[in-house]
Amino acid sequence: MYDIIVIGAGPAGASAAIFTAKAGKQTLLLENNKGMTKRAWFENYYGITEIGGPDLVDTGKKQAVRLGAELKEETVTGVSPIEGGLSVVTDQGTYEAKHVLLATGALVDLAQHIGVATKPGTEPRIKTVADVDPAGRTNIPGVWAAGTVAGVSVHAVITAGDGAKVAINIISELNGERYVDHDVLKA
Ligand SMILES: Cc1cc2nc3c(=O)[nH]c(=O)nc-3n(C[C@H](O)[C@H](O)[C@H](O)COP(=O)(O)OP(=O)(O)OC[C@H]3O[C@@H](n4cnc5c(N)ncnc54)[C@H](O)[C@@H]3O)c2cc1C
Repeated sequence: MYDIIVIGAGPAGASAAIFTAKAGKQTLLLENNKGMTKRAWFENYYGITEIGGPDLVDTGKKQAVRLGAELKEETVTGVSPIEGGLSVVTDQGTYEAKHVLLATGALVDLAQHIGVATKPGTEPRIKTVADVDPAGRTNIPGVWAAGTVAGVSVHAVITAGDGAKVAINIISELNGERYVDHDVLKA
């Protein structure tokens, strides 16, 4: 059983997987290459002067894998509760995890299909989002949401930050104590 399955490898999902994998959590990152970010051009991402969406997304996925996440290109069709966690069904198989993070961008169909409570979105062109608490929890135990699908401002630096925030909350819950990831400058 994975510690966490992240659904979506845009800025929100890959950022979350970077944190959970680096924390030593067994992480599976599932995506189907349908994210919006690959169509964007960025000049407002902190610390990066300018970058194309495909490069940003590709680098994020590689960073997650380098830190230990497993990445699979599969479409998730279902998530349901099982003993001690959740079962995640894709077009190619079934996986189990203690926690599932929805980072599906503007696509809310999976969230609705699995029974996540939703509410109207506030951002331009984002009609419906998952109803999450401030930590990122949905109404389904063990299912969390981050990024555009969780209703944050539709900007990559914010969705990436939200993915990191929710990942840190999941890691903290798994560890039973508050988690921080601080590396010190190498001499
Ligand atoms: C044309 C355009 C220009 C933009 N320009 C800017 C800009 O200049 N600056 C800026 O900050 N923001 C910009 N944005 C917005 C930015 O792309 C988003 O705010 C943000 O990056 C969204 O990140 P996300 O991770 O929430 O979603 P996404 O990047 O959309 O990622 C969603 C992920 O979920 C996956 N997924 C969805 N459903 C499933 C499923 N059932 N199974 C498996 N995988 C699934 C997708 O494959 C994808 O990997 C722009 C967006 C567009 C469309």
